[in-house]
Amino acid sequence: MQIKKDLALTNKLLSQGMVSTRDPETGFRYIICASCPNDGGDGTVSRIDRKDNVVERVLFCCSTCGKEFAVKPEDIFLA
Ligand SMILES: [Zn+2]
Repeated sequence: MQIKKDLALTNKLLSQGMVSTRDPETGFRYIICASCPNDGGDGTVSRIDRKDNVVERVLFCCSTCGKEFAVKPEDIFLA
C-alpha cells in the first residue's frame, strides 16, 4: 500500500467535501486515514460532517481499539 502525506491535497479534498481521490498518473485510489492517538492503530473514516459541501470534521474508527477519534488535518495521511 502506498502511503503519503500531503496537507495541501488533504485540505483541498476536504474543502470539496471529499475524503478520497484518484491519482491521475498511477490510477491509485487514495482515501484519507489517520493513526489512533491512543495506540497508533489504523484509523479509517467512520463519519463525515459536512457543511455547505465542505468537510467540517472527519471521525476515524481505530481498527485496534474500535474507538472513534478526530485528528487535525496535518495528522491526516492518504493511503
Ligand atoms: Zn485505537
